Amino acid sequence: MIPRLAAILGSKTKAQEMLLLLQGVKGVVRQGFYNTELPRVDRFCRENGIHGVRSTFKVLLSEGELYSNKGFRVPLEDPRQGMYFIYFSNDEQKAYLASYYELMSNHRELGLLLGYPPCCVDFFCRNFSERNTNLGLLSTNPLTNLSKRDQDCVLLSHFPCSSECPESMRLARTYLDVIQKADRGRAEEMIKILQC
Ligand SMILES: [Zn+2]
Repeated sequence: MIPRLAAILGSKTKAQEMLLLLQGVKGVVRQGFYNTELPRVDRFCRENGIHGVRSTFKVLLSEGELYSNKGFRVPLEDPRQGMYFIYFSNDEQKAYLASYYELMSNHRELGLLLGYPPCCVDFFCRNFSERNTNLGLLSTNPLTNLSKRDQDCVLLSHFPCSSECPESMRLARTYLDVIQKADRGRAEEMIKILQC
């Protein structure tokens, strides 16, 4: 399941988020894609009854930065290679709403709509700034560990307010459970990577 989705979406982390959306565990998911990836992503949405709303701007950033909301926006006509955000949901209104909140830089409502815990949304809104774009804490907890993102291995898609944030740990356990049921091998691989 995960490898098949990863072939379409470009990474195991994106595949995992899509799995959580397909299973109804997440209501809205946001991911970044380059132009060349869009046709197969659009096709996947059509075939699976998912609404994918595309941002009305592009973001210039590297893959790692996407997570941190860093990067700057340019118009779609800009010739530079930028990423489009796509907001996926089974609910068309929610997908549009997410794109609207992002456009308005309403981090709070966007975070809540993406299902992030309120404590972590507060943490993000208090601490995120142009100068401080990476809020990933050093984690000793595999569930909330963000430090293996570069290895395409992470359970959460938000910055936890602490590595022991109960709500983040609960979400991470739920996600791991879904992954385990869909792809036991991947779940075991993730546990191994996230522990070190
Ligand atoms: Zn929290």
